[in-house]
Amino acid sequence: MQYTAWVDGACAVNSTKCGGIGVVLRMSSTIYNKRNWDRMPPNAVMIDRTTDAGNPFHIGKDGDRAEVISKFRHLLDDHPDRVTRLTPKLLGKDWVCWCKPEDCHGDVWNEVLYSKEESSGHWCHTTNNRMELQAVIEALDMVPPGAGADITIYSDSQVVVGGFEWGYSIASNTDLWEEAFHLADARGIVKLEYIPRCSTLDHERADTLAKISSRIHPPYDG
Ligand SMILES: [Zn+2]
Repeated sequence: MQYTAWVDGACAVNSTKCGGIGVVLRMSSTIYNKRNWDRMPPNAVMIDRTTDAGNPFHIGKDGDRAEVISKFRHLLDDHPDRVTRLTPKLLGKDWVCWCKPEDCHGDVWNEVLYSKEESSGHWCHTTNNRMELQAVIEALDMVPPGAGADITIYSDSQVVVGGFEWGYSIASNTDLWEEAFHLADARGIVKLEYIPRCSTLDHERADTLAKISSRIHPPYDG
């Protein structure tokens, strides 16, 4: 399974030094190409046209690759019963077809079956760097452990990305770094990538969640 997270932390400029985090997480099934596998990859199901999850439209006869994928999208829109019937078979599994790295009707299944998750939180007496790191911890915590997951986390904190990828500056906030590495080790391959702040809609949302929760005390926080 693949997970992509956009994370942000914020620290309010006031005497309480209150901070917040925001996370947007998207899950998707990894789509493997059968040509690269003698047997089936673990925890994967076939979705090619020999199966009922397949695309009945053919490249050539029914259009080019983009057109047959678009037709498949309309087919699912028009037949929600098909989605309902196949959801238990496809959800949470990886998939095998013959298309990747090219576009595949499996991309449509990913859009239809998975929705984004959000999380936020509030801390007091904290710092910006701690909030940026706490947001990474929260994103990792949202991924079930032991899954051999492929996780990419986008952060606008060069301190956090540099620390996670290259071990820079991990001598401060060691409690949080230990927790982050521990969670990552239990989940699979984790990659942190730097992106400029709010450069995607999902990161903008994470930034908004972080800012809002830095300013408000949720009821459970006392
Ligand atoms: Zn395909």
